[in-house]
Amino acid sequence: MRRLLLIGGGHAHVYVLDELARSPYPDCQVTLISPYPRQIYSGMLPGWIAGHYSIEQCAIPISLLARRAGIRFVQSACIELDSELKQVRCANGESIPFDIASIDCGPVVDLGFACGAREFALPIRPIEGFVAAWPGFLERARQATSGFKLSIVGDGAAGTELAFAIQQRFALEQLVNAQVTLIGNNALPLSGLPERLRNTAVALLKQRGISCLANRRAIEFHPGRVIFSDATSLACDASLLVTGAAAPIWPSASGLACDENGFVRVTPTLQSTSHPFVFAAGDVAAYADPRPKSGVFAVRAGPLLADNLRSALTGKTMQRWAPQSKALYLISTGKHHALAAWGPFSSSGDWVWRWKDRIDRRFMQRFS
Ligand SMILES: Cc1cc2nc3c(=O)[nH]c(=O)nc-3n(C[C@H](O)[C@H](O)[C@H](O)COP(=O)(O)OP(=O)(O)OC[C@H]3O[C@@H](n4cnc5c(N)ncnc54)[C@H](O)[C@@H]3O)c2cc1C
Repeated sequence: MRRLLLIGGGHAHVYVLDELARSPYPDCQVTLISPYPRQIYSGMLPGWIAGHYSIEQCAIPISLLARRAGIRFVQSACIELDSELKQVRCANGESIPFDIASIDCGPVVDLGFACGAREFALPIRPIEGFVAAWPGFLERARQATSGFKLSIVGDGAAGTELAFAIQQRFALEQLVNAQVTLIGNNALPLSGLPERLRNTAVALLKQRGISCLANRRAIEFHPGRVIFSDATSLACDASLLVTGAAAPIWPSASGLACDENGFVRVTPTLQSTSHPFVFAAGDVAAYADPRPKSGVFAVRAGPLLADNLRSALTGKTMQRWAPQSKALYLISTGKHHALAAWGPFSSSGDWVWRWKDRIDRRFMQRFS
């Protein structure tokens, strides 16, 4: 019996679980470690906030997928990988040995970039932490009769989508004194996307009553205030951190070869460049041919990862991954409306939201 260890129930690993349920790996004992029994699909999270979906509709039941695949599920987080002993240590104290390990544990939010971020801001990741805290945020907004100011630090696709979703939720609940401010370090939100789309987003944000603070870098969080590097500040009742994908510390601390940001360097076969018996995919991986951190690439890596893990266990030749160069970005804007970008092309409308909704529901259906 060979021992395969799956670390994290991310987008690529849910494909591996699905594949294992259809066709088990021969003579192999598989274990999945993940801190939560379900995986909240980030693509639908803003829709949950905006009131389009229930949280159950956004959740992939990974512990049930593991059971269906006939594999062991350990509800904990990996905190260390010992490449000499070939075992990982979990937060619950358990040590799990392996012959082959695969990491798809996603990114984290960097809380060290600003003083007070840990104490006075809510990070979007872990998503389960945000999901647990969100009802309390909303309740505070409902109770604040003299007004509630929420700042969202990070104006990339996720931060912008959340700003639209939260504003929509405030409007649904008729919280007329609740105000959202989207804060970014660039001249326009949605850095990296076509300028036409970015301008459309700015116009829509304004139309929905969402304030934008451009070219600001938050450096300190205090109760009731965010301080920026240019010595200006913003009064707010709560802050949400959506500052992009940062690497978890444990892979680099475990001695796996990582890029300058701490993401695990992998070959085109998705094997660690330093430890070929360790695979990595999704946002935690630094691909040989780099791609933006996005669920699209994590999903796309899934089928190849599943095949290559099978090949590694059976001694067959592995395939090389040549990811598509462009990803489709679909950004919902709170109501049944969304923005789309693919390379230099962009569009927007209610039809884009229906398109996104169909894609998301189809993805979830596969794993429900
Ligand atoms: C609000 C929001 C909306 C987004 N919308 C989109 C979108 O529409 N399209 C898109 O392409 N991208 C989107 N993204 C980005 C997308 O979420 C990420 O790129 C994607 O989740 C990366 O997938 P992954 O498989 O690498 O990791 P994840 O999806 O983060 O999954 C990682 C899993 O590993 C588990 N885990 C974490 N640490 C450990 C550990 N130490 N040990 C074991 N398990 C662990 C986690 O609990 C989780 O289950 C969005 C992000 C956010 C925040």
